[in-house]
Amino acid sequence: MMTNDSQLPNPPHIQADSMLARRFGRETVNYFSSSPLNRLSFLRTDHAFLSAALKHPSTRFVLMKDLAPLTKTPTEPYYAKYEEIRKMVPETIYDKSEEDIIKEYDSRKTTASPIFLGLDETQTQDGLAWKIYSGTPYFALDVTPRHSEEQQANSRAVISDLEAKGLTFLQGRTIMSFPASEAAIYAQARALIDWNTRNTFCGTCGHPTISVNSGTKRACPPSDAALVEQGKPATRPPCNTRTTISNLSFPRTDPTIIVAVVSADAKRILLGRGKRFPPYFYSTLAGFIEPAESVEDAVRREVWEEAGVTLSRVVIHSSQPWPYPANLMIGAIAQVSDPAHEKINLEHDPELEDARWFEFAEVEEALKTGTSVLGAAPGPEYKEGALRLPPATAIANQLIRAAINLEFLGGENGPKM
Ligand SMILES: [Zn+2]
Repeated sequence: MMTNDSQLPNPPHIQADSMLARRFGRETVNYFSSSPLNRLSFLRTDHAFLSAALKHPSTRFVLMKDLAPLTKTPTEPYYAKYEEIRKMVPETIYDKSEEDIIKEYDSRKTTASPIFLGLDETQTQDGLAWKIYSGTPYFALDVTPRHSEEQQANSRAVISDLEAKGLTFLQGRTIMSFPASEAAIYAQARALIDWNTRNTFCGTCGHPTISVNSGTKRACPPSDAALVEQGKPATRPPCNTRTTISNLSFPRTDPTIIVAVVSADAKRILLGRGKRFPPYFYSTLAGFIEPAESVEDAVRREVWEEAGVTLSRVVIHSSQPWPYPANLMIGAIAQVSDPAHEKINLEHDPELEDARWFEFAEVEEALKTGTSVLGAAPGPEYKEGALRLPPATAIANQLIRAAINLEFLGGENGPKM
């Protein structure tokens, strides 16, 4: 089986022989997953830890302006030191407890909020040691000029100092040019910065929120000192997010299914074309999981709606975080049980421009010569008119590889599906 692993993560978990590995094969580790950081989520409320981590000389900051990451080159993110962002983040930012910060909330005073991403435990030399944990702390910070005039001026000063060093905020709709481990850190940073930016007002009562838990929760403070100046009481109206369990306060992840569909005779694969795709480019079918729907049901619904094909068995294969903006792609392989169910009908939901069954041999050739990201050209061996497919960094590619691998399907030795 051909492989193209250069841009795929080298997982920090143990890929050893085990009963599960023998039964289901090695775990597929997709691009944007398998971060080298230990997130240590239980330390996000520990202000003594955050304060030490913020100022530690080894600490690195992933910076973004309007979601564009700061880079040295398009393949190398730049990690800033605390000194470089000090103007935006005062040393005293974690001096008060979270409880006191919420209690003393004043919507006139704003500061940038660093997001703690985790510790890189492979970099312990000169790293931060905290209780039994040690490594290099990573934070994300949105340097886009926002909120109070003072905060905006500080952001602009930080940006101009960085740009004076020849660094660039890398523009792009879907950036996939970083090495795998850096891509996973970037994905986490991008998803959390984006979520914080979109949720500056409470989804229940409409009042401004503040970032807490080091950027992984938004709180709706019960009072605002700014109201007193307007001659009003400081207390804000009651809000459910303060008293009930509420998913409005936490970062969202939208589950999406993506599926490689195999024909009843296990010789062909179903692929579709979006309207924006370049000529000859096809991919696996995908769509959002709806409320109160299982992954398997969503796969069957999407494939029937988009292509008219009726599926039987669905197997979950692997998943990929997709920070554009907040998806989790749940990859599946599915099969049709009866050739009569293979008939393509694009008329239910006209989302696809085309859907077709491709012979495995044609797909295998396309995996060797016709892969690229959507906006780029395929390699030099590609022959005009042949099938084109997504790159190895896309879960679609990994699903297609797995689906046409007869060993995975059971082949002659008895089906596994
Ligand atoms: Zn509220």
